[in-house]
Amino acid sequence: DADILILGGGSAGCILAARLSENPDVQVTLVEAGEEAKDPDIAKPDMWPFIQGRDFDWDFETTPQPGTAGRVHRWARGRVLGGSSNLHAMFHVRGHTEDFARWAELTGDDRWSFEGLLPHFKATESWSTGGDELHGGDGPMPIMLPSGQTHPLVRAYIDGWVELGMPRLHDHCGRELIGTAPNALMIRDGRRVSVADAWLTEEVCARPNLTIVKNSPVRRLVLEGTRVKAAEIQRGDEFELYTGDHVILSLGAIGSPLTLMRSGVGDPEMLRAAGVDCVLERRELGKNLHDHLLGAGNIYRAKQHVGPSKLQISESLSYQAEDPAQTTGRPDIVVGCVAAPSASEMLTAPELGEGFTLLFGVTNPTSRGALYITGPELSDRPVINPNYLQTERDRHLFRVALERARMVGRSKMLVPWMAEEMHPTASDLESEEAMDAFIAKAVITHHHPVATCRMGADEESIVDASLAMRGLDNLSIVDSSVIPEITAGPIHAVVMAIAESFASDFISKA
Ligand code: FAD
Repeated sequence: DADILILGGGSAGCILAARLSENPDVQVTLVEAGEEAKDPDIAKPDMWPFIQGRDFDWDFETTPQPGTAGRVHRWARGRVLGGSSNLHAMFHVRGHTEDFARWAELTGDDRWSFEGLLPHFKATESWSTGGDELHGGDGPMPIMLPSGQTHPLVRAYIDGWVELGMPRLHDHCGRELIGTAPNALMIRDGRRVSVADAWLTEEVCARPNLTIVKNSPVRRLVLEGTRVKAAEIQRGDEFELYTGDHVILSLGAIGSPLTLMRSGVGDPEMLRAAGVDCVLERRELGKNLHDHLLGAGNIYRAKQHVGPSKLQISESLSYQAEDPAQTTGRPDIVVGCVAAPSASEMLTAPELGEGFTLLFGVTNPTSRGALYITGPELSDRPVINPNYLQTERDRHLFRVALERARMVGRSKMLVPWMAEEMHPTASDLESEEAMDAFIAKAVITHHHPVATCRMGADEESIVDASLAMRGLDNLSIVDSSVIPEITAGPIHAVVMAIAESFASDFISKA
């Protein structure tokens, strides 16, 4: 019996467990389906693309996507203490101030503006370059800004953008995002630092008021009236009940909505089809699903050997507006440089060491999909449909992003590196339709599903601005599922800030 029962020990859940158990009078229980990270490859930054599909990955699949040549996309998600921070590519990018202005508008709450979130971003971070007005200096997560370690090809790529007139930024976490910079990374002493490494330290785990229950998948919540009475944990064929005065769902953008659906929350027709009785009608649950895609890519055969990366291969993202005269400062597209040939499964790529890829993508996609359960058990495969590239705006911006990647690919600075452009081919560029067909084959997930339990001020939203679940008195949702609209960049920095913001509010109200 806990005061606070946290379900899901991922990026958000580990931070909540550490912060909320600071008060020794509060009993906190953290329940996680996986165990602690044991695979030594997790800590090796350049191994990140190769550790997906192992036993600590939920390894979800989308439905075949009409917008991406009918392909099924595998969606990696961590099933391990620290969650997806054990699988992620370690980039630390906050998003643009306009992204958060929109969150504040949607929730009617300035806590979600950039300035409102800034103290929480800073509280999570410890920058290698030190703390200042914009950067945290003594938070649990080390953020390394590479200097001498950046790959020479990536340095040439960054210089290529500067040659083309792009501002050179210190990093991707300030009030300006349009520009080019090496990626800041969650790496210390050459090793990945997961959220579990940073927050669930030996000292925190030794707290008598914190219980961490591993290898414990949550099948569903037991609801009684407007309260969560218990969480049902699967133990082989048996179920064990865990209770808490306050329950927090931190099962991620896939796990949180699916668990609520198995508990009888959602669209009544969908629940009936899955064989689950509807207890609380919430038609928006699982809807609004969206994700970043990256074109993989604009692929080159190299003129010289591309040596191994000292970091995590994909070393720089550059953000830019479609219209260079635009004044909001909000980027529309992103181009990244990978010091290795990165290609979707539909494209051929040169051997390792013989080529490189420029990735290209859309920062704020407008295509929306949905996910839902097909049965009441954890073993029933969910339907996950992100509806990739369904809007003309997304397809148009992808074409612009591809052109921008090709522009820097031809810059003077990359002349010593570029022998031949392999993809797209001349025929892929003959018409808009040909470009769309190439992009549909080239895109891969950037691994940022969000918004399935979106926060908002409207009654249809799943959680309110304080992340309290509408319709249930003692349940909060704190993870990537509450993000109402995706931010311009990778989302991990803001998932940590959401958890830190919730924890500091919760503690101050106690
Ligand atoms: P998670 O961290 O996924 O945590 C959810 C937790 O809940 C997991 O531990 C899971 O096992 C547990 N859980 C789920 N269902 C159940 C259940 N039924 N019972 C019990 N436990 C359950 N972001 C960036 O900013 N930069 C990057 O470079 C980057 N690269 C990425 C690369 C990959 C391959 C992946 C997968 C993600 C990447 N991301 C990146 C995204 C980022 O890692 C995630 O958005 C973030 O970790 C999500 O945090 P979360 O707390 O919402 O969910």
